[in-house]
Amino acid sequence: MSEKLWAAVDQYITDALLPSDAALEATLRASHAAGLPAIAVSPAQGKLLQLLARLVSARRILEVGTLGGYSTIWLGRALPEGGRLITLEADPKHAEVARGNIAGAGLDKVVDVRLGLALDTLPVLEAEKGGPFDLVFIDADKKSNADYFDWALKLSRPGSLILVDNVVRRGAVVDADSHDPNVQGVRRLYQRIAAEPRVSATAIQTVGVKGYDGLAIALVTG
Ligand code: SAM
Repeated sequence: MSEKLWAAVDQYITDALLPSDAALEATLRASHAAGLPAIAVSPAQGKLLQLLARLVSARRILEVGTLGGYSTIWLGRALPEGGRLITLEADPKHAEVARGNIAGAGLDKVVDVRLGLALDTLPVLEAEKGGPFDLVFIDADKKSNADYFDWALKLSRPGSLILVDNVVRRGAVVDADSHDPNVQGVRRLYQRIAAEPRVSATAIQTVGVKGYDGLAIALVTG
């Protein structure tokens, strides 16, 4: 099977199941126009995040890694009245573009974009007693994945869902000798999850317009 076929099937799924959406499409256009990298989740992945948030009846969502706010908007739309989403972003330009896109989607009263390195802003959230979050989506620098997972757990409760994107890395995750810090970061994440008795977890491989990668899903059980 070729990447071309994966992308074609992904497009077919998107065309069949995901109606065109002005705010999401404007978000991708504005992000591209501002020079942001095209590394947002795909439409089908965005919808999966939204469905998972709805399945756990999330009222409070934490996202680590905002980019232009594309996944943020998918997740923010899963929230009921009174729900809140906090998203952490290190790059000032990304945060500014995201704020514009989030406002364009009518979610500026629901979403709080926090600028700064996530490992600096996560302790602030803890000090503010910002948790527990019902769903945490980790999608920032992969080398810090295990630390983000620890924070997600700290800011969760039994029943919370922790999702981590890009955990297969075109298959490179199986290479224990990889010098790629992203691969090593993902491998540390698996070790951390495996050693953590308070979660029940798996990861699935994904293919589509974003190539070959994977998503880890951990349910906080204790
Ligand atoms: N979740 C976004 C989406 O699907 O639309 C994509 C996020 S993109 C893959 C990763 C983002 O994490 C980038 O915008 C990057 O600037 C941000 N980032 C990288 N390192 C970070 C850090 N240490 N703290 C917070 N954000 C970081």
